[in-house]
Amino acid sequence: MNIFFDVDYTLLGLDNTLRPGTMDTLHKLIDDGHLIYIWSGVGLRWEMVREHKLEPMVSGVYEKPTDRFHERLEGLGVPLVPDFVIDDYPEIVAAFGGVWVPPYFFKKPDDGQMERIYNIIGDFVRDGHSEDRQYKARGTTLPLF
Ligand SMILES: [Mg+2]
Repeated sequence: MNIFFDVDYTLLGLDNTLRPGTMDTLHKLIDDGHLIYIWSGVGLRWEMVREHKLEPMVSGVYEKPTDRFHERLEGLGVPLVPDFVIDDYPEIVAAFGGVWVPPYFFKKPDDGQMERIYNIIGDFVRDGHSEDRQYKARGTTLPLF
């Protein structure tokens, strides 16, 4: 699948640390045959991707729509529709389907979210859905919780 990860508070904290397990999880997803994309509502985040040595794992870096999610993809130069998104912003997860994650602000060694994301993706690939409450199907209507 084409899996799109948000940057701020999803993979990256305010303290510029990566969410624990990020590298391991991205490697595992690639080994499973997925493609990883990075996008952000504040623009192209190549600097973050390079600083954290994610470049070899990433198939594209894009600007993320912050509203009218499907309609704005083309105008933002996103050349494909995400199959699955990971974001701390629930609306975009509901639009494309994926995993909502609680915002990651500061280094937190016991944060188990990356492993949880990996397991939800495994559920989705196998069953077409996940029982995990952080999973949202494409087109879920709000409120999410
Ligand atoms: Mg975010």
